[in-house]
Amino acid sequence: MDDKSPFLHPQYETLSREEINRLQVERLQATVKHCMNSPFYKKRFEEIGLKPEDIKSLEDLRKMPFTTKQDLRDTYPFGMASVPLRKCVRLHSSSGTTGNPTVILHTQKDIDEWANAVARCLWMVGLRPDDVFQNSSGYGMFTGGLGFQYGAERLGALTVPAAAGNSLRQIKFMKDFGTTAVHAVPSYVTRLYEVMCDNGVDPRRDLKLKVLAIGAEPHSEEQRKRIENMLGVKAYNSFGMSEMCGPGVGFECQEQNGLHFWEDYYIVEIVDPETLEPVPDGQIGELVLTTLNREAMPLLRYRTRDLTRVLGRSCPCGRNHIRLDRMRGRSDDMIVLRGVNIFPIQIEKILMQFKELSSNYLITLTTDDDNDNMTVEVEISEMFTDDYGRLQALTKDITRALKDEILLTPRVKLVPKGSLPVSDGKAVRVVDKRKVYL
Ligand code: AMP
Ligand code: ZN
Repeated sequence: MDDKSPFLHPQYETLSREEINRLQVERLQATVKHCMNSPFYKKRFEEIGLKPEDIKSLEDLRKMPFTTKQDLRDTYPFGMASVPLRKCVRLHSSSGTTGNPTVILHTQKDIDEWANAVARCLWMVGLRPDDVFQNSSGYGMFTGGLGFQYGAERLGALTVPAAAGNSLRQIKFMKDFGTTAVHAVPSYVTRLYEVMCDNGVDPRRDLKLKVLAIGAEPHSEEQRKRIENMLGVKAYNSFGMSEMCGPGVGFECQEQNGLHFWEDYYIVEIVDPETLEPVPDGQIGELVLTTLNREAMPLLRYRTRDLTRVLGRSCPCGRNHIRLDRMRGRSDDMIVLRGVNIFPIQIEKILMQFKELSSNYLITLTTDDDNDNMTVEVEISEMFTDDYGRLQALTKDITRALKDEILLTPRVKLVPKGSLPVSDGKAVRVVDKRKVYL
């Protein structure tokens, strides 16, 4: 097969900025018009006296109200649909912690376009039809399963829908099937590596792996480097969310200099989460996305709660699709401890700098004697477990480094390898047991 796949819209990958803008205006106008079939958006537009014809340029986007997760909950399950239900062929649902889950509907065209987007991402990082792609992420409602499955099939790779868990079986599959590419959440990749080590499998010697797609949860650059060193492969950051289909929204190219968000599929805005005004490139804000080619359930100015910043609008790889920094986390994941704002990823970044530590850690927040405290438990690699003096010195060093980063002194507890919980899905990094004073 030649280098240009007929499925990936290669002509859209290298659009110039002017061409991207033109295409976006065209698709935005069509999307807004289509949204008037949704009872939710029709009412919203009527309430503020906005007509689809009022949207003439990308700047006019700002006349439109934002859409929030709460809107999805309030219209649960089908109140946002812009097509009759009989045209829909799939729904995905994201659970969330409170209230109704959210539902995202898809037509056949939506599923096809989603597969194209994921195939484009995988192609970008070098996958070709002769690759063996093992998807070690959860299937079912979690979009990382079917999303990557359809995308890798669309690309023409041999796909192995291994799903998450049962690490020994995963490793056997990798060996027996000659797996060259794996998708998994980063915390699960480090778990897989530990199981490989425990079972005498050397990934460089015994496997044919060359590419990993890691995503679905925040992870630091340090964590990525660690994963790359462990397995001897390139690990590319993959961003997605159920509301935007799932994976395929943003993906790193081989330059690994930020996530390309596909601007023929989405309009990207970064806004100040307080004022909701746009922030300049380079400044952290909340990611807001507008879908441009969705049929069943287009979303206008959807507030993702994810915090990131624009890194650039061109790239040595030849693609001009906007590049965003890796996510800092979601605004609702931010820990506020004694008035200080902390993202778990800041703690991870520091921990990963200590080679004596494994990648698994847990942050617990408690109230002791009316004071709020943070305890960071982190697993160590076996070789240090007996050397008490060395453990103590290490604990001190980690505490100091963490204090420099987060400006508070956490309690640091080094725990034996394998003693913290591991999840097959997204890792739970923070447990908040603080007393709530009403
Ligand atoms: P879900 O819709 O349940 O799959 O969750 C989507 C959320 O997962 C996003 O809004 C992000 O908060 C998070 N997420 C997905 N991919 C990444 C990534 N590559 N880096 C950081 N967070 C991510
Ligand atoms: Zn690039």
